[in-house]
Amino acid sequence: MSKAFAASGFLAREATLSDQATEVLRHNIVNGIWAVGTMLPSETSLAGNLDVSRTVIREAVSRLKAEGMLSSQQGRGAFVASDRPRMGFAIPERDVESLRKLSQILELRLGLEIEAAAIAALRSSDQARAAIQAAADAFDNASGGGIPGVSQGVTTDLDFHRAICDATGNDYYLDFFNYLGASLRETMLVGRLQSVRRGSESNEAVREHHLIAQAITAGDATLARDRMRLHLEMSSERLLENLEPADDLPQ
Ligand SMILES: [Zn+2]
Repeated sequence: MSKAFAASGFLAREATLSDQATEVLRHNIVNGIWAVGTMLPSETSLAGNLDVSRTVIREAVSRLKAEGMLSSQQGRGAFVASDRPRMGFAIPERDVESLRKLSQILELRLGLEIEAAAIAALRSSDQARAAIQAAADAFDNASGGGIPGVSQGVTTDLDFHRAICDATGNDYYLDFFNYLGASLRETMLVGRLQSVRRGSESNEAVREHHLIAQAITAGDATLARDRMRLHLEMSSERLLENLEPADDLPQ
C-alpha cells in the first residue's frame, strides 16, 4: 500500500464505499499528502488503489468539491483547492427533543443575545429601536386561547428577539439568531401549549421584553445586557418547566 493510501486502515467497515473513499481522499488532503494546488491522481488509479469502482471515486470527488476541498480545471481533472473542510454549523433536529441538549441550546442564546442587546443599545438607529418597541407591543397583544394564540405568542416572541439582533447592524447576529429561532420554534410551541393546558401561563415575559426595549432605547448597554440575561434565563426556566412531563394532564 502506498503512503497516499495510509488512511484506508482507518476505514470503518460499516460505512458505505463512497463514505470510505471520501474519508481517504479527505484524510490525504487534510494531512498534506496531496498538497494544495496539486492534481489528484486519475480516477482509474484511485479506483485501483482503493479497490472500488470509478463511480465511487467520482462520488467522493464530487462530495469533496461540494466541501470546497477539490476543484476541477476543465479537461485536466481535479485539483486540491483547500486543506480545510468548509463545515457549516448545525444543530441536528432531534437535539431539541433532549432536555439536556435543549438547555444547552438555550444557554447558547445567552452568548448571542445578551451581547446583541448591548450592541443594539449602543448603535441601533431610531428606526431599529422603533421596530424593537413595536415587536414588544405585538408580543403584548398576542393572546387568545387555542393553537392560534399559542402560535402567535411564539412568533411575536421570536420577532422581538430577532428585531434586537437586526438592530446590531451585524448580519451574522441576525443569521445566527434565525438559525437558532428555527431550531427552537417547535419546542417553544409545545412549551407554550403545555403552559396553557396547565393554566400556568405567565405574563412575566411581556414585562421583561418592555424593560429590555426601554434599556435599548435609553442607550444603556449595561442595563440592556442585564435585562436580556434575566429574561433569557427566566424564559429558559419557564420553557424547561413546561416541558417536564406531568401526571395531571389529560392524555
Ligand atoms: Zn422573549
